[in-house]
Amino acid sequence: MLGAMQDWTMRITHVIDAAARESGAREIVTHWADGHETRTNWAEVRTDALKMAQALEALGVKKGDRVASLAMNHSRHLVSWYGVAGMGGVLHTVNPRLFEDQLEYIVNHAEDKVLLYDAAFQPIVDKMRDRWTTIEHYVCYDPADGFDGHAFESWIGAQDGEYTWAEGSERDPCMLCYTSGTTGNPKGVQYEHRSTVMHAMAGLQPSAFNFGPASVMLPVVPMFHAASWGLPYAGAMAGIKFVFSAVNDPAILHELMIREKVTDSAGVPTVWLAHFQYCDAQKIDLPPLKAATIGGSACPRFMIERLMKNGTRVQHAWGMTETSPIGTVGGPTSDWNELTFDEKVDKTAMQGRPIFGVELRTVDLDDNTVELPRDGETSGALQIRGPWIIRRYFKGEADACNNDGWFDTGDVGIIHPDGTLQLTDRTKDVIKSGGEWISSVELENAAVGCPGVAEAACVGMYHSKWDERPVLFVVKKEGEDVTADAVMDHLKPLIAKWWMPDAVEFVDDIPHTATGKISKKDLRARFSDYSLEGA
Ligand code: AMP
Repeated sequence: MLGAMQDWTMRITHVIDAAARESGAREIVTHWADGHETRTNWAEVRTDALKMAQALEALGVKKGDRVASLAMNHSRHLVSWYGVAGMGGVLHTVNPRLFEDQLEYIVNHAEDKVLLYDAAFQPIVDKMRDRWTTIEHYVCYDPADGFDGHAFESWIGAQDGEYTWAEGSERDPCMLCYTSGTTGNPKGVQYEHRSTVMHAMAGLQPSAFNFGPASVMLPVVPMFHAASWGLPYAGAMAGIKFVFSAVNDPAILHELMIREKVTDSAGVPTVWLAHFQYCDAQKIDLPPLKAATIGGSACPRFMIERLMKNGTRVQHAWGMTETSPIGTVGGPTSDWNELTFDEKVDKTAMQGRPIFGVELRTVDLDDNTVELPRDGETSGALQIRGPWIIRRYFKGEADACNNDGWFDTGDVGIIHPDGTLQLTDRTKDVIKSGGEWISSVELENAAVGCPGVAEAACVGMYHSKWDERPVLFVVKKEGEDVTADAVMDHLKPLIAKWWMPDAVEFVDDIPHTATGKISKKDLRARFSDYSLEGA
């Protein structure tokens, strides 16, 4: 016998309908690449999304077709999130920082029919047009005067908005995001309506984004990175005010945060690094944010300290494209007021606790069938499962999970008795020295706290006696001098003696991936001839 409640298919269209109905007048501000600003609201976003759905159908786009976007954060991109899903299409957010071969591969692999793009990426479009074999229509979001092609505003403006959202199963796909693995071609992660709605609802919790109608969010995390952490959906559910900037210039972000009374922001740690440098150079305070969600890579201790001293709650989050992406988020616990400032920073430096809906476990690195204790000490391979966690990659034949439905994250971590996750490394980056594991990430985090160090990356190098030993690559802060001895002295009290790097090498730059993370793969390739003295 079934229960006696109403049917309600978990589709994204409910999200935008609710935002327009309950929070229709709440503003959505965009600072565009050319410096001008526009203001719209949730009601208008819905109307534009309805028009866009009609415009896509007029181009011949059908249910299940992929529509790509190559764009930064702005209100027209937001409209597309709802317009594409609203007509039953799948929005494929493409990362413009990918290399040409990857751009060619993913667009052709996704079989994108339409590309929506920012004028700033016209050079990419011009270069790739002949290599993209499936795109039939190009639409520019913000064309300059005299543009000869589909301009987003007039393209959707030709429609009347008299449209009924496409219906279908809540398990239909709605979004596609590629993730570049350490080996092989990028892989597509296809989100469903149901998984997206559930993920966004979970993201609203006080222990996650803590959104309400009083929230004003400036998301620095790009809309092309892991579904912008689900913010465009969670924000609509709570009816928040969004402030978007199509350019990631700290001066512009800072001014917007102050002027628009931004309460919340979200981004990778490098965003805050740039913001700190800007404020230091200008001799001004950080913006008075209530909360900053930081994730994508480990948030260094000094960053947490500085933001917390500024009165900003730091929500350190962990996740992956494959996990929609939120897996864990940090935040105060019931004993928070009894902790010292340093203890609070220590806790925040860990990756937080799973939000309801996801389960985590660690297993032995050498034997994945052995589950490890949640004792705050034992580190192992991190696995995850839940309704917004990947089951299989786009067009993939095989399940991406093991038989029990656990997805292997490729991360290494420790789970504490209170459920807090402490990430220690990537499976491929942990350094095995004399049979014991050394966390390259912890070494890096300790090193970036050293005065004069701008960025640090640690990799294991071959050693005849120990198998591998850590070598630390360091980029100096501009205009500052720091020696290898100073770095070693700084590390000494922070890490175990046998973790101390065998060498500190100064480099002009450290390679990064398209999502701004340190690329150990490229760093290793760059130093493939490197040899440790005495090895
Ligand atoms: P992506 O799919 O590009 O978002 O990359 C996901 C990976 O980023 C994870 O598997 C982690 O290795 C890393 N990552 C994400 N959040 C954090 C965090 N808070 N601390 C450390 N690493 C993180």
